[in-house]
Amino acid sequence: MSKISDAIECVWGKIVSACIRAGRSQTEIQLCGVSKFHSRAEIDEAFSAGLQLFGENRVQEATEKFAVQEKNGFQIHLIGGLQRNKAKRAVELFDCIQSVDRLSLIDELGALTRDKQSPLPILLEIHTAEDSKSGFPDIDSLLFGVERVFSYKGLLLQGLMTMAPNSNDEKSIRASFRAVAAAQKAVSTRFSNSCPILSMGMSNDFEIAIEEGSTMVRIGTAIFGKTRQK
Ligand SMILES: *Cc1c(COP(=O)(O)O)cnc(C)c1O
Repeated sequence: MSKISDAIECVWGKIVSACIRAGRSQTEIQLCGVSKFHSRAEIDEAFSAGLQLFGENRVQEATEKFAVQEKNGFQIHLIGGLQRNKAKRAVELFDCIQSVDRLSLIDELGALTRDKQSPLPILLEIHTAEDSKSGFPDIDSLLFGVERVFSYKGLLLQGLMTMAPNSNDEKSIRASFRAVAAAQKAVSTRFSNSCPILSMGMSNDFEIAIEEGSTMVRIGTAIFGKTRQK
């Protein structure tokens, strides 16, 4: 077995344990392998080990590694900030854009997907950590964003995403994840519309995230190892 497949197995073991602690089923959790800064060969290795969902944080880098036509079985999600001038390319390449963090981006994506045959799945990003820059700053602005998404037939709101503080303080990490769960409740109360995916949890905090309701963990380092760029 390769190192990457061992690592994936190890991550799944921890996911299962966290689910057991939280009284949840592991079938509720999707594993997104964050392949930024890692080569196509490493991605293929992970794919052979059963991983099908990958997260990239730059449109340019993802374009170099994944061709639109060859996505046999792959799913690629954009998890990093999206500039306006890259939005068209992003809409063509990604199966889901998780990092929709402002109204102007919703408008841009809404316009670009007007004629798409099937709507583009998106998540709205919420700002829950002081050291992060992106995301809707609070529940009111998020609800405003949700309403805006509903006005575009080319966009399909599937859930919410966040990045917890990059720290060892479990309390503040947990608070960050709880804020997302509360926001999800607020959305379903206001719009009686479910946005089932909660994309939260990275290599350092995914077990806490699962305890707090995550349905998708985004794991880079724990699968692919460290990179110099980080
Ligand atoms: C890099 C990144 C991850 C993965 O981080 P690791 O700590 O390497 O697991 C998850 N989400 C986002 C948005 C990222 O940019």
